[in-house]
Amino acid sequence: MAQQMHGQPMFILSEDSERTSGQDAQTANITAGKAISEAVRTTLGPRGMDKMLVSDAGDVVITNDGATILGEMDIEHPAAQMIVEVAETQEEEVGDGTTTAAVLAGELLAKAESLLEDDVHPTTIVEGYHEAAQLAHEAIDGQVLDEELDAELLAQVAATSMTGKGTGDVAPEVLAETVVEAIERVQDEDGVEREDVVVRTQTGASSSATEFVEGVISEEEPVHDNMPSGVEDATVAVLDVEFEVREGNVDAEYDVTSVDQLNAAIEAEEGQLQAFADTLADAGVDAAFTTEDVDDRAAAHLADAGILAFEGVDDDEARAIANATGASRAGTLDGLDDTDLGRAESVEVQKFGDDEFAFVEGGADATSVTVFARGGTEHVTDELERALGDALDVVTAALDSGGVVPGAGATETAIADAIRDRAASITGRRQLAVDAFADAVDVLPRTLAENTGMDPIDALVDLRSRHDSDGRAGVISEGQTGHVDDPVDAGVVDPAAVKHEAVESATESATMIVRIDDVISSD
Ligand code: ADP
Ligand code: MG
Repeated sequence: MAQQMHGQPMFILSEDSERTSGQDAQTANITAGKAISEAVRTTLGPRGMDKMLVSDAGDVVITNDGATILGEMDIEHPAAQMIVEVAETQEEEVGDGTTTAAVLAGELLAKAESLLEDDVHPTTIVEGYHEAAQLAHEAIDGQVLDEELDAELLAQVAATSMTGKGTGDVAPEVLAETVVEAIERVQDEDGVEREDVVVRTQTGASSSATEFVEGVISEEEPVHDNMPSGVEDATVAVLDVEFEVREGNVDAEYDVTSVDQLNAAIEAEEGQLQAFADTLADAGVDAAFTTEDVDDRAAAHLADAGILAFEGVDDDEARAIANATGASRAGTLDGLDDTDLGRAESVEVQKFGDDEFAFVEGGADATSVTVFARGGTEHVTDELERALGDALDVVTAALDSGGVVPGAGATETAIADAIRDRAASITGRRQLAVDAFADAVDVLPRTLAENTGMDPIDALVDLRSRHDSDGRAGVISEGQTGHVDDPVDAGVVDPAAVKHEAVESATESATMIVRIDDVISSD
């Protein structure tokens, strides 16, 4: 394209770039954004459906998780991509509520589209949306339950986040207890160290075999067949040490010209390799984990000394084992002593199918724990892993950032109600935008009702009147049906942080898309 300047055409864009502007750009962006949120709408809530995603390479993922669905979809449109980012931000910040955030963003766009058609200026929409979002945050704060966040309430938060997810043949309530047990173990006065709970998966058993392991599970196998398969009351070393003869490690350099010299060289090497085992044995080590490699001959000496050793342990695992046992990671064996070593009730090698795992349990510090997830197939364990991850995240969010609010659309009903209350006193066209925001929030309870097989209009009417009279009403899904009731009585609760983040990220992206009136793309 060209613009005139002093009579000369000035080219500011290359010829193959495309440009759409004004309402066309807005409409195209809004349509793209809405389409993405539509795609995940049917997965919202406990009765939401799953999606099967097939990649170019033919890999199949079956999931109900909003972030996963959007992450796997090959989305090119930039505005659609912004909705995907809403889900990603939501996942990163609080670990749950991705579908909620994406659906809300899409609905905010749909309402904005109508406002634009009615000639409400984009700036007015943006201002109104921000004002409404502020009211939404206040309404969420007002919904936070007074109840103490005890194990029972936390288990309800965990179960709510897992309801409707593929948890195999085990009820969310059962897994929820495992999740709470794990989180409570890594909680201290400073809060929850979420990274200290690891989810490990292994196929080949029913998901009801999923268990809490008070310690760390390492994926490594012992470096030698003749090592003990387990040690009780173990002294544990966590090392970043290579158990190999390195050039320069051997005292002298040999110019090998005779068999004697060769033997001497081999002997010197053997001495080195033996020394690794001797050092560990002298320090009383029963089990050693190193992030580096172990030479086969060094492994044989370790086996002779009755030490259970693992090589190539990944960095996170080494950190977790050190945390759990109270060991400090040592970069050298020189001067290795008791202060470097940790303790565990047991270090045990267990075989699952073709895989061997080392269980480090009952560590002295026990600040690293594992949820060991089992499932019949990889699809089951994958979805179970995602569900457990979400559940661990929501319990953390409930404890560390702001408590819990009623779920099942009750908090959303309260948000919409609070915004409508205030909208009445706002003058000018901004009121239309504030009201539109409230209408957009309604999409959440409406979709929950729809996915539960209820009539969405009846459900909304019912919700509002129950909200007005009792203050708390959600669409509780139970088995094949649903009804309007108090979600807290039904144990359906979500972290407040998930709602705050959904409002925040959906508003951000919707207003950003509405503000764009010019799309210039170059390829
Ligand atoms: P998201 O990706 O937004 O977390 P979900 O599919 O996990 O989407 O659905 C979350 C919504 O489902 C929340 O609003 C939550 O309160 C609601 N929910 C969970 N369990 C129930 C239940 N038994 N009855 C009604 N709503 C529920
Ligand atoms: Mg969820």
